[in-house]
Amino acid sequence: MRGIIWIVLAVVAATAVYFAVSDKGPQAPGQSTPGESVTAADSVSATEPTIGLIDDARINNAASEPGNWLAYGRTYEEQRFSPLTQVNKDNVGELGLAWFKDMGTNRAQEATPIVVDGIMFFTTTWSRVHAVNATTGETLWSYDPAVPREWGRRACCDVVNRGVAVYKGRVYVGSLDGRLIALDAASGERIWEIDTIIDRDRYYTITGAPRVANGKVFIGNGGAEFGVRGYVTAYDADTGDQVWRFFTVPGDPSLPFEHPEMEQAAKTWKGGNWWEIGGGGTVWNSIVYDPDFNNLYIGVGNGSPWTRAIRSPGGGDNLFLSSIVALDADTGVMNWYYQTTPGDNWDYTAVQDMALADMEVDGEMTKVLLQAPKNGFFYVIDRSNGKLLRANPYATVNWATHIDLETGRPVENKEFDYLEKEKWVLPGPLGAHNWQAMSVDVDAGLVYLPAQDNPLIYGMNKEWKKTGVYKRNPGRFNLGLEFGGIAQLFVDNIADQPTPKGYLKAFDPLTGEDRWVVEIPHYWNGGVLGTTGGLVFQGDALGMFTAYDKETGETLWQFNTYTSMLAPPITFQIDGVQYVSILTGNGGGDLFSGEAMDPVAMPASSIYGNYGRLLVFKLGGLETLPEPLVRDTTIPEQILADVSKEELGRGEKLYHDFCAPCHGLIARSAGSIPDLRLMNEGTHQIFNQIVLEGLLKGNGMASFDDALVADDVERIHNYVRVRAHEDREYSLGNKEAPQLTWLN
Ligand code: CA
Repeated sequence: MRGIIWIVLAVVAATAVYFAVSDKGPQAPGQSTPGESVTAADSVSATEPTIGLIDDARINNAASEPGNWLAYGRTYEEQRFSPLTQVNKDNVGELGLAWFKDMGTNRAQEATPIVVDGIMFFTTTWSRVHAVNATTGETLWSYDPAVPREWGRRACCDVVNRGVAVYKGRVYVGSLDGRLIALDAASGERIWEIDTIIDRDRYYTITGAPRVANGKVFIGNGGAEFGVRGYVTAYDADTGDQVWRFFTVPGDPSLPFEHPEMEQAAKTWKGGNWWEIGGGGTVWNSIVYDPDFNNLYIGVGNGSPWTRAIRSPGGGDNLFLSSIVALDADTGVMNWYYQTTPGDNWDYTAVQDMALADMEVDGEMTKVLLQAPKNGFFYVIDRSNGKLLRANPYATVNWATHIDLETGRPVENKEFDYLEKEKWVLPGPLGAHNWQAMSVDVDAGLVYLPAQDNPLIYGMNKEWKKTGVYKRNPGRFNLGLEFGGIAQLFVDNIADQPTPKGYLKAFDPLTGEDRWVVEIPHYWNGGVLGTTGGLVFQGDALGMFTAYDKETGETLWQFNTYTSMLAPPITFQIDGVQYVSILTGNGGGDLFSGEAMDPVAMPASSIYGNYGRLLVFKLGGLETLPEPLVRDTTIPEQILADVSKEELGRGEKLYHDFCAPCHGLIARSAGSIPDLRLMNEGTHQIFNQIVLEGLLKGNGMASFDDALVADDVERIHNYVRVRAHEDREYSLGNKEAPQLTWLN
């Protein structure tokens, strides 16, 4: 079988040269949109599958193929725990780089590769797909869906993609601009493409990996921050025809319910005009198929707007926000749901990776679902009926005191309610755990979990407080809280609040105890892989790719990548050699780190650069990375205009409403998107053309002429200049502390 596969591959590889996109170098400013990299027929008849021949039976038995990584979370159970043992506690010190590949991007990389029969399929930025020889890195084919670059402005959390699904000779990918595309696994040729978006005027995006089962492809979307209504759709894997669609929140009450579950949900939304703002509930990450019950579990996101007082002023749980919903995989009919955060008020999505397991709970073998959503509690749920079995805190939590196991509901802590007065809340909107995958070690009864303590100040939207009216702003964040005012957090109350920190925890989901904890100075770290070899692998913000002893948390091996990592590692074995691989590159949803206050927490991507690379390791690997260069982060001297504090305050608010979602709070970039304080005078001269004429559209910096006028751009520009000046003076020791905010 493998012989035939490789003959086919050789032919494919020879012809792939013509189609391959350049993998070299980061995108230059102003680079034009790349064209299609393959012959793009709208409809090509399905060819006989030649490689990537994965079907339901094979994924069902993925455990019997430890050398492959057949699905997003390795198997349908998505435990991300590999039975491979060649690389183990005793010899991991000999692990070395086998090869690496520069992916031609300096933006975040989040993908989990799929490895099947010697080929690795993975995605990089702008939803580009690559198929490479998994032992050498040689490109077999690449596919670029040519996402229009203005989508860079329409994505809350960078132009990322978390991966493909491979099924019956096809590769499925969701594009940032909302298309679901089926490619021929052998050639990368597009077979079909469908538009999954119900309203192109809203900023819907896809960053998640599709899942496949029972001849269907399942995909959701993101966009709740901008104001959209969430849903998940099942498509026929062969034809792309829609099979079913499940909305997660009710729509316009004057229109009929799309399905009976929406009638049930609508009773929990009271007052307000959530359907105009969007409602939220996007399913942007976790979708898990359960062959035991033929269920499809979807992890539902936060409300839109975030604040429930605006979204649903009459109260109510606002189903199915922040819920795990079990749907019949064939019909999309709901079997059960469990809501982690009724009446979500904090961006507490339940989209984080879900894993399935058979575990002994209270003396009985139980089929459980495990999830650590943003809200800080680790849920163990009986997947036969949705009953809550455990909900222990896995990080510091102050929004609720505990989860009542009788009612299944959180008991909110009134002291941290922010309706009247701004409050620090833990976890903040990045969650105590985000999409960075955990690994489940069923034999040890442990979960290896990337967690964080990372608070944010929440305060109600000022306009709403004054007038009682909240108006949707098309094309920008619609949170219902004072995003501009968040700048205040850099000057107020700091002393009372914990320093943001990251953790890798070996956590017992049944008892809530930590077996061991590794503290990481920066909070925004990578996903996790555990192995029977006794190892836990994780890449972190500081640039270290580390193998920990899974029993003690002791560091057994480290490799300095000189850049930051978010993506989860995977492992596979080909021709008797075990490989461990990880994609590098920082960014994603982290807009809050700015420049780390404490130098020990400075991300490697800020010090050396943000390098989008695929790294593959094996025992005895001898490859080395290019010598790292330290970035020049000297803030240039500024030419300051004579502007009033009021004008700077207006500029500050505009900056945070329009620019901060990518360029970072108080004009300090989180590292992957250009830091505006570092602009040289030449760039300052063309600031208006960049913002209003789309001069750097090719990078995703599309024109804001639909939302901003020249006077506003000048205000933003003055604010950035003053912030740069303040930080420069501080760094030179000419000033004790920068002023940071002009808002009152
Ligand atoms: Ca969100």
